[in-house]
Amino acid sequence: MKNIILFGAPGAGKGTQAKLLAEKFDLIHLSTGEMLRHEVAQGTALGQRVKDIMDRGDLVGDDIVVGLIAKALDHGRNELLDEWDELRLRRACGIGDNDPLPEKPQPSIIYDGFPRTVQQCQMLEFLFQKKQRRLDRVISIDVPQEELVHRIHERALVSNRSDDNEETIRHRLEEYESKTRPVLDYYKVSGRLITVDGSGEISETNSRLCKVMEWILQN
Ligand code: AMP
Repeated sequence: MKNIILFGAPGAGKGTQAKLLAEKFDLIHLSTGEMLRHEVAQGTALGQRVKDIMDRGDLVGDDIVVGLIAKALDHGRNELLDEWDELRLRRACGIGDNDPLPEKPQPSIIYDGFPRTVQQCQMLEFLFQKKQRRLDRVISIDVPQEELVHRIHERALVSNRSDDNEETIRHRLEEYESKTRPVLDYYKVSGRLITVDGSGEISETNSRLCKVMEWILQN
């Protein structure tokens, strides 16, 4: 049961790579951006609160995203204990119907787009302590600035995301520089940071990431 953060600037390919890694290594993929877009699409109270913030390219509040992660960690745990699973486990281990079950093994998780501020890093540490998890590694996908700008503009041509437009893109990169880049230093100090070159094609970056992931999962 590992916890791995996939870190990168907007346009670095975090979302694409996190999906590929989750499929290949059977990981749970938690993307705060996707969770927030889901809330907006469903028109929930939270969605209505964050829509304008996201459209401007600002970061939403730390408490909101940490709350979403905390909820997802609880939900993942319950989902594993479906009825069929529980019966099978009881029979296999010879546990009586009314006896307590042992703790279930928890799956490994890849975090995409979170944490994005140093405050979120600190809140995540606190959350992990409460949930008896620990952060294993942070993988940073490194892409030069000019390539990032080029990629986000290309994506804007085909994306239906309301935050993929000229002005918002510029602001998202500013937010990254001022609030999110310090996250790298935070993890560098703790020796958990691994940097992967993400300047090439999706498949090239993916094979580099797969090697790193194999190593993390085995160690
Ligand atoms: P993403 O899909 O990761 O690019 O996120 C899209 C938008 O959702 C960001 O521009 C922010 O407005 C918001 N968002 C996603 N994750 C976070 C986070 N960890 N902290 C604050 N805002 C976030």
